Amino acid sequence: MEIKKGIAVSPGVSIGKCLVIDSEDYRIPRRPIEASQRMAEIQRIRSAFREAVRELTALEQAQEQDQTSSGRIKDIFAVHRRLLRDRSLRRKIADLIHAESVTAEYAVSSVLRDVASHFAGAKDAYISERAADFHDVERRLLKQLLGHKREDLSHLHEEVVVVARELSPTQTASFNKEFVKGIASDAGGRTSHAAIVARSLGIPAVVALEDLTEIVHSGDLVIIDGNRGIVIVNPDEETIHQYEAYGRDFIALEHKLDAIREEPAVTRDGVRVTLLGNIEFPDEARQVLDRGGEGIGLYRTEFLYLNRPTEPSEQEHYEAYATTVRVLGKRPVVIRTVDLGADKYTQRRRYVPEPNPMLGLRSIRYCLQNLTMFKTQLRAILRASVLGHVKVMFPLITNIQELMQAKMILHDVMEDLDEEGIKYNRGMTVGTMVETPSAALTASTLARESDFFSIGTNDLTQYTLAVDRGNELVSTLYSAADPAVLRLIRMVIQDACKAQIDVSVCGETASEPEYVMLLLGMGIRTLSLSAPMIPEIKQVIRSVSIEDCNVLARKVLAMNSERQISAYLRNEVRKILPEVF
Ligand code: PEP
Ligand code: MG
Repeated sequence: MEIKKGIAVSPGVSIGKCLVIDSEDYRIPRRPIEASQRMAEIQRIRSAFREAVRELTALEQAQEQDQTSSGRIKDIFAVHRRLLRDRSLRRKIADLIHAESVTAEYAVSSVLRDVASHFAGAKDAYISERAADFHDVERRLLKQLLGHKREDLSHLHEEVVVVARELSPTQTASFNKEFVKGIASDAGGRTSHAAIVARSLGIPAVVALEDLTEIVHSGDLVIIDGNRGIVIVNPDEETIHQYEAYGRDFIALEHKLDAIREEPAVTRDGVRVTLLGNIEFPDEARQVLDRGGEGIGLYRTEFLYLNRPTEPSEQEHYEAYATTVRVLGKRPVVIRTVDLGADKYTQRRRYVPEPNPMLGLRSIRYCLQNLTMFKTQLRAILRASVLGHVKVMFPLITNIQELMQAKMILHDVMEDLDEEGIKYNRGMTVGTMVETPSAALTASTLARESDFFSIGTNDLTQYTLAVDRGNELVSTLYSAADPAVLRLIRMVIQDACKAQIDVSVCGETASEPEYVMLLLGMGIRTLSLSAPMIPEIKQVIRSVSIEDCNVLARKVLAMNSERQISAYLRNEVRKILPEVF
């Protein structure tokens, strides 16, 4: 039995057989070979190409039998097959082995990545999107050369607990909840996007386990405790019983909280709090309502770009928004324009790495440099605005010019729609995400151009403390309870109050019970959080008075160290929700 401690990112307990999966990318070291081995390596290349074509043909045949399979998938297979039959590609790889005495794996990876980045750099969207095909073919060949098959999570037929070195948001979003019962990864942090998706899916998850993948093997029995951040490999009988009991307690708590689903989120002294949900996909909208949410406070629309080979069209954007708005009826839906870059890439840019992506061409910056794409999304949002109560929100604003420019483009799009006679809501409100220190420090200026603020504490913490939110090596430094972050949050709330605009919190602090009293005490009355956490947060709200929250906030804001603040907040919430802590 081996016990590992990591970061709890999605609550619940699961016990099951483990499936260890590769990360999305293979990293191939450059290992030199003897000149005498070169022919053998070239032979390996030939058979890898042959086997890859065979595998593709089998996949194609399976797709043909599947009535639901789309023409797009067939087109992709056809492109891949053409690449695998391309003699010049094979020759290039063989030439590299000859010239530089490198392994077959290295040559494949190096040549295909070269070609891919060449394509990715093209201005034409159609050509640049072809980069993804070269990467897929690279993976297909490497799978043959490395001799082990990547596990395919879309075809699971038994329950598993997934263990990986690192999970991308795309991988996590494709998990089938019916079979994936728990998630554990070596890398990641509390607010990394894979963690956020796991929480939305309601799958217990623990990240930042450092070397778990070196300890477990597929088939081992594993316990994942998403409340305490613990993973146990091959537990003994007694431990299994103990965790089965924890799991039952957690489910009992969920049932108990279900009882307050219809009750309002109101404090003991009668102050009403609005609880909204964060979603990544339209099919999560129903869950937000089922858990007692009163609207969508953050729709992370960039997920529309993940999990698919081409960028979505205006109609595909529209359908996603229309589906969501129809589920919500008259309730608000805050659509955030795409936050691509950093850890979530478009098809086009997925393979053009930036040296420092968190500080790079991300989010609103990316949109402002790709106006066609930005306008496509804005058109779809505006078209959907007549269906219900739609609001739009711009992410990662760092200065007033960006906000003005984004709003100007929105107005351009409105004019285009006017000319085309297409209806939209002229009065659609426009919000700013405050998630950079510069935005927080200039909140009074931004407030003049914003109908509302939504504080993104995930990024605000990352940028204030200069700590990568997804890097397990610095995860102990990442905390929204740091006095620097809290002072910025307080400033934003005060500036929003002065300007008389709404302000909410949509970062993960909104779904962490220990922050609820503090945020209420600082003046927040709207929280947007992942659906499975809504009942717990509501329970905290219903158990406290604003009076107590104000006292707590005053005390906390006078404290100087993160450690002291965290310990204090945990202690306070433990009194309210002992089952969770
Ligand atoms: C945030 O940064 O707090 C936020 C809500 O946005 P995301 O997590 O998608 O970056
Ligand atoms: Mg953010």
